[in-house]
Amino acid sequence: MKNNTNINVEEIRKDFPILKRKVNGQNLIYFDNAATSQTPKVVIDSIVSYYSNYNSNIHRGVHALSQEATDAYEGSRVKFQKHFNAKNSFEIIFTSGTTHSINLVANGFKKILKRDDEIIVSQLEHHSNIVPWQMLCEETGAKIKVIPIDHNGELIFSEFEKLLNAKTKVVFVNHISNALGVINPIKKIITKAHEYNAAVLIDGAQATPHMKIDVSELDVDFYVTSTHKICGPTGVGVLYGKEEWLNKIPPFLGGGEMIDKVTFEKSTYAGLPNKFEAGTPNISGVIASGVAIDYLNGIGLDNINEYEKDLLDYATSKLLEIKDLKIYGVSEEKTAVISFNVGQIHPYDIGSIVDKLGIATRTGHHCAQPIMDYFKIPGTIRISFSFYNTKEEIDIFIKALNKAILMLS
Ligand SMILES: *Cc1c(COP(=O)(O)O)cnc(C)c1O
Repeated sequence: MKNNTNINVEEIRKDFPILKRKVNGQNLIYFDNAATSQTPKVVIDSIVSYYSNYNSNIHRGVHALSQEATDAYEGSRVKFQKHFNAKNSFEIIFTSGTTHSINLVANGFKKILKRDDEIIVSQLEHHSNIVPWQMLCEETGAKIKVIPIDHNGELIFSEFEKLLNAKTKVVFVNHISNALGVINPIKKIITKAHEYNAAVLIDGAQATPHMKIDVSELDVDFYVTSTHKICGPTGVGVLYGKEEWLNKIPPFLGGGEMIDKVTFEKSTYAGLPNKFEAGTPNISGVIASGVAIDYLNGIGLDNINEYEKDLLDYATSKLLEIKDLKIYGVSEEKTAVISFNVGQIHPYDIGSIVDKLGIATRTGHHCAQPIMDYFKIPGTIRISFSFYNTKEEIDIFIKALNKAILMLS
């Protein structure tokens, strides 16, 4: 089927070995990209190359392998600095993922928050963006306030404005909801929060696969993502933090690499970024993540965005032809994530039937129970696209879905 964008999807699909495999005798159709993206061969090759050619611990050795590994690891940091337009490379911290990054920042605020200070989160958050703050509040006596959503799944900005006051110290919002795909007005949120001197952390795990992020333009204090959602390997997170904030908050983990001087009386911390990278990091993963970001930039995030938007519009209109089908998260500002239910049919039953036909979808609450509570549903079926998906795959999915509905009603 023709597409009028700059994406040559047939060529791109050749980069992803997994797209050739069969599931239950059918060609795999992978519509679970919001949970994790597939991995192009260049990224897989870079991991193999690391272990085949220069596997070595970084920063410590004077020998050649260690130098090569260190150069590649630090080179990856510079790639992410440029990609996110951060002022300094040491403002990029490598962690094990979004969850780790959020916990790192939340832990850092333990020293800063006082009893009755306030933290604002949104009703759209992933559990990994709720639980760390709850733990923080239990320890500090600070309180959580929640920005409500409307029936379209959009944050109500006027309610956010009402929650802000002199006690607000931190605002945590995801850039894009993983359960609904709705894009939040983060620039407006950041600007408003800064009027009250509150720090803002944006969970960008769902945004970075689809769009270019400019942390300097956003003036955001912390921005986090996981590279397994942007064609990289699992186990690597990127945390951008403004220099002044990273200097203000204490380290999360103690250990090797994060210290300057150690005696049993007291240790002094290393400077940025080492202060936050205790122990041996996921070296091959960080290097491969740099290759992944090069790969995405080679295709161009604007091209990716345009192509995926086309898939989103196509799938949305096809789905809406189905009787009793309801889409959750209706907004002009959306990425290629569609959450829906059909009548009273349990999402799990549909997910299982389409899986038999080789189609990977996600069913359940998507780690975002507060959203499901708002809509009074146990969960949804979620399909999420990447730039290697096609309209043909959507057609096959719609057929499979209709078959499942027939069987279940
Ligand atoms: C995937 C995701 C997370 C969690 O990421 P991990 O890699 O599992 O730590 C957090 N927030 C959002 C919005 C996500 O999509």
